[in-house]
Amino acid sequence: MPIAQKRILITGGAGFLGSHLSERLIAAGQDVLCVDNYFTGRRDNILHLLDDPRFEAMRHDITEPLYIEADEIYNLACPASPIHYQFDPVQTTKTSVIGAINMLGLAKRLKAKILQASTSEVYGDPALHPQPESYRGNVNPIGPRACYDEGKRCAETLFFDYYRQHNLRIRVVRIFNTYGPRMHPNDGRVVSNFIVQALKGEAITLYGDGSQTRAFCYVDDLIDGMMRMMAAPDDITGPMNLGNPVETSVAELAELVIELTGSRSKIVHRPLPIDDPIQRCPDISQARALLDWQPHTALRVGLQRTIAYFDRLLTERGEIAPAAEAAA
Ligand code: NAD
Ligand code: UDP
Repeated sequence: MPIAQKRILITGGAGFLGSHLSERLIAAGQDVLCVDNYFTGRRDNILHLLDDPRFEAMRHDITEPLYIEADEIYNLACPASPIHYQFDPVQTTKTSVIGAINMLGLAKRLKAKILQASTSEVYGDPALHPQPESYRGNVNPIGPRACYDEGKRCAETLFFDYYRQHNLRIRVVRIFNTYGPRMHPNDGRVVSNFIVQALKGEAITLYGDGSQTRAFCYVDDLIDGMMRMMAAPDDITGPMNLGNPVETSVAELAELVIELTGSRSKIVHRPLPIDDPIQRCPDISQARALLDWQPHTALRVGLQRTIAYFDRLLTERGEIAPAAEAAA
């Protein structure tokens, strides 16, 4: 049976997650309008989609109102890496809060469904482990991560107020660390940092003693979860954790990247950033029960694909020698 064609707006569509989501929705026969201000996103991420008649890209900052037509909205616009969201913290809060107000206003006018890309950062440095959606978090409201954490928390508040006050059809997903091809090579997140450092034979920068944990989800699994959430019945609003419930220490990740790249890089220790959460792992019982969703890609497999991507990218840019030359 042919699926009904929808017009789908993706804010932050030229970013890491947004570009994968665009690709998947187009492959599913939908029309995609990608809106991005290219702060951390890149045209390269969507270059292969630009000739597709179902795809349209528009440069726009969501802190300004947007007048377009759409049936569904995925609100992903916001820098996700600590380095980038702390670069201009006021703009980060504006993007999360004013951006959410603008997109919710648009959804209200259009009677469109709207999904918010929230984050495990709403749990801050969690006192409960693993984190269920009912946990209210332990966030420092005045620290360097607050622009992101509190911005995303306020966006959640706005989504639920529009839901209660205006009967808007909302979805809120709390995304845990996700990685894969098209992460920005300089975006400072741990997976891209370690892989790029290992491939270049540079020191691997381990912050603190590396015992802090994260749960790493491969991008394809995450996108599948987001699309299931959008397609779920309207009473499933979330917030819904989406992540891979396999806890890994950052030190273990460094060892695994060294093993998989065959790198001779050494590990060097750097100070742990302020308010860096010590433990992070999602409880995904809700996503399992309500969306029949769970990640399928093992960390080792996802890392191999991501390493292959960065290997190609850095070779094309002449930043590393082709594999054959390097082995000689
Ligand atoms: P990303 O930085 O690659 O993508 C964000 C995109 O938003 C970029 O293309 C950027 O240019 C765009 N953008 C930023 N501010 C904007 C603005 N004001 N107007 C228009 N566009 C703007 O990050 P990502 O990993 O793809 O994350 C996408 C979303 O998912 C973000 O909202 C992030 O908070 C959320 N998230 C991601 C992760 C993860 O591990 N990747 C985890 C939790 C939450
Ligand atoms: N990290 C690290 N070395 C790096 C980059 C990050 O040890 O080069 C650590 C960081 O301190 C944190 C974890 O890896 O404990 C995940 O960091 P990331 O910036 O990827 O995401 P977040 O802290 O937002 O989960």
